[in-house]
Amino acid sequence: KFNFCAGPAALPEPVLRQAQQELLDWGGRGCSVMEVSHRSAEFLEVAERAEQDLRDLLSIPDNYKVLFLQGGATAQFSAVPWNLFGVGDKVADYIHSGQWADKAIREAKRYGQVNIVASGEDRSFTYAPGAESWTQSDNAAYFHYTPNETIGGVEFDYVPDVTCPLVADMSSNILSRPIPVEKFGVIYAGAQKNIGPSGIAVGIVRDDLLDRAMEGIPRSLSWKVAAEAGSMDNTPPTFAWYLAGLVFRWLKGQGGVEAMSTLADRKSTLLYEFIDRSDFYSCPVEKSSRSRMNVPFVLADERLDKEFLRQSEEAGLLNLKGHRSVGGMRASLYNAVPLEAVEALVSFMADFEKRCA
Ligand code: PLP
Repeated sequence: KFNFCAGPAALPEPVLRQAQQELLDWGGRGCSVMEVSHRSAEFLEVAERAEQDLRDLLSIPDNYKVLFLQGGATAQFSAVPWNLFGVGDKVADYIHSGQWADKAIREAKRYGQVNIVASGEDRSFTYAPGAESWTQSDNAAYFHYTPNETIGGVEFDYVPDVTCPLVADMSSNILSRPIPVEKFGVIYAGAQKNIGPSGIAVGIVRDDLLDRAMEGIPRSLSWKVAAEAGSMDNTPPTFAWYLAGLVFRWLKGQGGVEAMSTLADRKSTLLYEFIDRSDFYSCPVEKSSRSRMNVPFVLADERLDKEFLRQSEEAGLLNLKGHRSVGGMRASLYNAVPLEAVEALVSFMADFEKRCA
């Protein structure tokens, strides 16, 4: 069976097998990683290896902290203004590209002034707004965008060039391509797509941004506190951290983010080209902004949606239902989804079209 879930998403099979094997007896200890202290030497080794592997995968420069955080990416929607609005004006620039950007914007507005520099609203969020028409604020504490909108299937094919610290919610496309980390002030990502199980989020924060927090910041949202405590100010989700580490190891063995990027191109191109050739399926997203991770598509006759989903499940193609807010279908093609999964999907879609169109 192939799992196209948008999140929590499929994990690489070798990772699951290793975790299964180690569940009752982790390295001869007679217990699992979940059952040892997060302060023990053996867990610290897991934590440090995970961090180093992520640093290697993304070529993270030494002047950035790597944090393993709790509360998902949603907590970071609040953490971003809390950590960056403490110095200068409480003003931030945001690109409004869809539902996740909207959630980040709403949260930031609770703490300061948000300037929407660009929005995809005029075309129902079916494209990533370009930089031509921006008006950046002179006094912005930071500039925030969402490189991949998981629900809309819209991905930016460029990194904004801005004069203040650039902050990115990379929840659904981190580790799918090389990124110039040095162009960013802060990168954050919930784990449950390309990193590991839910319950942990990764933060990559440039050192000079650790001293800009608003007074009264909750301890649990402070990047500085997390950095000083090695992301262990309180008990971290150790099992999720360990699994993330196994995923990073697996990724390195697969050839790293360069290999993932090539694979993402092949998978998404195969599906988009098939959709574009067909009169029965269509994708609402503009070609230059199509996500390589989340492919939304609709059937010409929505009365067939239910039957499509029933038959695709039966064929072992799982979780193709679109987000509840937009309907239709969505195939998520994260790193753990193999090319064969997309080949099987395209073959099923062609067959369904032949039988039902
Ligand atoms: N940002 C993006 C782009 C997402 O796709 C998601 C979840 O799917 C979130 C934020 C929210 O993440 P979490 O559920 O970990 O808070």
